[in-house]
Amino acid sequence: MEENKIEMRWNPLLEEWVLISAKRSTRPWQSAEACPFCPGNEETQGDWVVLTLKNKYPALSTEAPEVKDESKLYKRARSYGYSLVVVETRNHEGDLCTLSNEEMNLYISALVEQTKKICNDKKIKYVYPFRNKGKDVGVSIIHPHSQIYALPIIPRRIERELDSSKKYFSKYKRCLICDIIEEERRGPRVVFENKNFLAYLPFFAQWPLEVHLTPKRHFQRITELTEEETLDLGEALRNITGGYSRLYEGREISYVMAMHQAPCRGDYDYYHFHIEFYPRNRERDRIKFLAGIEIGGGTYTNDSDPELKAKEIKEAIERFVSSNKK
Ligand code: ZN
Ligand code: ZN
Ligand code: FE
Repeated sequence: MEENKIEMRWNPLLEEWVLISAKRSTRPWQSAEACPFCPGNEETQGDWVVLTLKNKYPALSTEAPEVKDESKLYKRARSYGYSLVVVETRNHEGDLCTLSNEEMNLYISALVEQTKKICNDKKIKYVYPFRNKGKDVGVSIIHPHSQIYALPIIPRRIERELDSSKKYFSKYKRCLICDIIEEERRGPRVVFENKNFLAYLPFFAQWPLEVHLTPKRHFQRITELTEEETLDLGEALRNITGGYSRLYEGREISYVMAMHQAPCRGDYDYYHFHIEFYPRNRERDRIKFLAGIEIGGGTYTNDSDPELKAKEIKEAIERFVSSNKK
């Protein structure tokens, strides 16, 4: 009866939600079975360049059952939402850096269109696009794809960023992230820059190879990108992931890419859209594991020299760009 339990549970100690999704435990694990995203399958027939699908093993669903609280202490909420997969190309292998210009543009458009469409659903508070890449972050299907989670809550990390941006704005009458990019662009940690975007390894990086990609113009949601900004975003996504691919030649770097935008509704003028990359490597053959201090203490150790790592990533991006031109 309860075998596919799907619901949200409130953690009163940390004041955050946990998504319970029993069905996800049955999902295929890096199996050698036929790729579900390659063209010609049941869901991937026909003529497409970039394709948006429903996740078969959702953590959030519009069909999630209603729930009742167990007690005053233990709260539940309905896991109402959307779990989507954006298949970025018909090719089975690759990364954002191997997408064609057309694929890249349609990929960004898919994220924009889904954000617009899903935000029309009044039960949804937040649309979160992200990308998991590589075996070290546990990717079960290698075919290049991103995911979109649309949630009835604001994820905790975003909520914290909204709060800190709001506080900063009321104190200085300035955007926190505008000030961060102002500070970073003059410093030693810029890894890539074009007319509309700045990519840098932030001063406060928690991961050795962390990169933040931020539009220079102050706006809140991916839906606000201009045509020119969309092209520059595509170039930046390609070059950052291309840089990672060239950083340790022959060694795949696994990463998580997170897109942080404002919630669907409400006044968040003080917030600034940006994208964060969290690669798992700290050296060529060393993975950074989250352990006692991070998992149990909630404080990160970054066992690297951020300025040196930024320089290495910048040079890897330069190698990627010059080899890509040829
Ligand atoms: Zn495939
Ligand atoms: Zn700003
Ligand atoms: Fe962020």
